[in-house]
Amino acid sequence: MEIVRIPVLSDNYVWLLHDAGSGETAVVDPAVADPVLAAAEQRGWRITQIWNTHWHPDHTGGNQAIKAATNCFITGPAAEAARIPTLDRQVREGDRVSLGGVQAEVIEVPAHTAGHIAYLIPQEKAAFVGDTLFAMGCGRLFEGSAEQMYANLQRLAALPPETRVYCAHEYTLSNARFAVTVEPDNQALARRLADVEAARAAGEATVPTTIALERATNPFIRASSAEAFAERRLGKDNFKG
Ligand code: ZN
Ligand code: FE
Repeated sequence: MEIVRIPVLSDNYVWLLHDAGSGETAVVDPAVADPVLAAAEQRGWRITQIWNTHWHPDHTGGNQAIKAATNCFITGPAAEAARIPTLDRQVREGDRVSLGGVQAEVIEVPAHTAGHIAYLIPQEKAAFVGDTLFAMGCGRLFEGSAEQMYANLQRLAALPPETRVYCAHEYTLSNARFAVTVEPDNQALARRLADVEAARAAGEATVPTTIALERATNPFIRASSAEAFAERRLGKDNFKG
């Protein structure tokens, strides 16, 4: 499976997944339509599916126009179907979504939104996590609790360490600057901040990340309890970095 990153809006990443065997192409969380249609066309790919992780407009805003252009099939969280009127299929924990020969497994990760889901592809060691886990960060708690988000992060952290994590935003630099205030003695984190500063100065993306990197440097995953996590999440909400 080929995976292409499409940067859109100020800091969103839309992911294009292509299975060469079947010729199928899926879009994960299309914030907008035009750059996504252009990226597919440029490669000679026809978009056959959209996978949404949650209802926020910067993850679903392109649904309607991409469907109008391609007649693709749209899958998203059952718990948010009322807020994503373009869904063709509603999925829940444990459901499978196929892209040709590639099988994704749906897990429910409520907290950023109440029905947020992630798509795990074990055979590709890839996880599409929307706004749940970010490089050195995690999603804000708009519709759920610290306990829920902490449980989500522990679950994702238990994936094989080499799993690549495809987040929906480039928030890495701001997350890293906060993270070093929480774990000033974490050498891996200090090195990663320097790497990220260099990458961003050069205009490079810092996503995908990996589970191994996040276990070593993500202060939200590394929190020792849901209470400690809650304190860190609040600290980040108020961080001016
Ligand atoms: Zn969101
Ligand atoms: Fe978002």
